[in-house]
Amino acid sequence: MAEKIQMAVPLVEMDGDEMAGIIWQQIKDILLTPYIDLKTVYYDLGLKNRDETDDRITVEAAQATKKYGVAVKCATITPNAQRVKEYSLRQMWPSPNGTIRAILDGTVFRTPIIVKNIKPLIRTWKRPITIARHAYGDVYKAVEMKIAAKGTAELVFTGEDGRVSREVIHNFAGPGIVMAMHNMDKSIKSFARVCFNYALNQKKDLWFAAKDTISKKYDHNFKDIFQDIYEEEYQGKFSEAGIEYFYTLIDDAVARVIRSPGGFIWACKNYDGDVMSDMVATAFGSLAMMTSVLVSPDGHYEFEAAHGTVTRHYYQYLKGAETSTNPVATLFAWTGALRKRSELDGAGSLGQFAGALEQATVDTIEEGIMTKDLAILAEGEKKIVNTLQFLEEVNARLQRGKIVP
Ligand code: NAP
Ligand code: MG
Repeated sequence: MAEKIQMAVPLVEMDGDEMAGIIWQQIKDILLTPYIDLKTVYYDLGLKNRDETDDRITVEAAQATKKYGVAVKCATITPNAQRVKEYSLRQMWPSPNGTIRAILDGTVFRTPIIVKNIKPLIRTWKRPITIARHAYGDVYKAVEMKIAAKGTAELVFTGEDGRVSREVIHNFAGPGIVMAMHNMDKSIKSFARVCFNYALNQKKDLWFAAKDTISKKYDHNFKDIFQDIYEEEYQGKFSEAGIEYFYTLIDDAVARVIRSPGGFIWACKNYDGDVMSDMVATAFGSLAMMTSVLVSPDGHYEFEAAHGTVTRHYYQYLKGAETSTNPVATLFAWTGALRKRSELDGAGSLGQFAGALEQATVDTIEEGIMTKDLAILAEGEKKIVNTLQFLEEVNARLQRGKIVP
């Protein structure tokens, strides 16, 4: 075999748990290390190691991402009470994704991987729709109260200078409920900039939607911040790139998305992004075909699959049973990270390799060879294979291509 592709700067590698962790190693062994002189700064975010390091490993991995610029992450367990018992944890450690997101202050972009023989449930969708979800505040940081009896609920703001402003929420005649939520201009501005930059990078239109007609201060503030930043910093760059920024009401956006051919980025407030990303993922086919990338305002990237550690398959695997877990989203996390590394370092062969590997993966599925989850969705002839067989089939197609060294 010819020389391996060299890397100038390492990737930050965040290893993970269960079936996702098994697939992680298989992808490296079969499709990466035979072709690339793979350089990574390795962090084991497996639950055991997080427990042993008091979760410092997660913080260190996020800091390394700030230093090197590009990370690739395996799915990890977010512990609950049952996991604390299962792994004899010393503490119910927080979600690694939450920790990393807080340190990088990022926006999460989710994009489906499209193959010809899996038709989206929405007939008009021809190209991927990327959801960009604002990952801070609103209902996720809300304060709620149950109102037991007759009385008045108020919003009170006390300034540092002691000045107070108040607003009556409701004069309750009897029991009810009340909620207050917040966001910060700083967070909304960085969300807007990350979205505009990502649209430019991908050369795709950017849509943003909120409910500014009803929420004349809260949602209107999101709309105004996006519009101001667009006009001041991005309008020229967008017209040069031949792309558009488009704001509309959330209800109108939903209707237009369904009628559209796809191929754009849809920026969503936190709750809208949570709900709509599940809708978009389901309509495109499968969570196992959904990639996810966290982009920070400083231009740092963390690539991962949108699915979890696939626990049910892992327990089968531990019993020695054959598993047909879909490795595609995890594989695309690697190719996304390698391509980004190649862009940043001007290392063209790494990016070409990433493209060839993605093409080989899509070809494999389009030729009817796929894991069990996709067989239910795909049209035409199909052969169900296990995870290792699938990766070998991708490798065979990769070797037939021309870009392999
Ligand atoms: P999951 O791991 O995404 O799996 C849910 C189900 O979806 C699986 O049982 C499987 O269905 C199907 N599935 C998901 N990915 C698949 C793949 N690659 N190939 C084939 N089928 C796939 O979600 P979960 O079971 O709710 O969570 C498991 C663990 O993952 C939890 O501990 C959670 O904390 C963690 N998690 C981590 C992340 C992350 O790190 N980003 C995200 C979500 C969840 P069938 O069983 O029907 O085959
Ligand atoms: Mg959700």
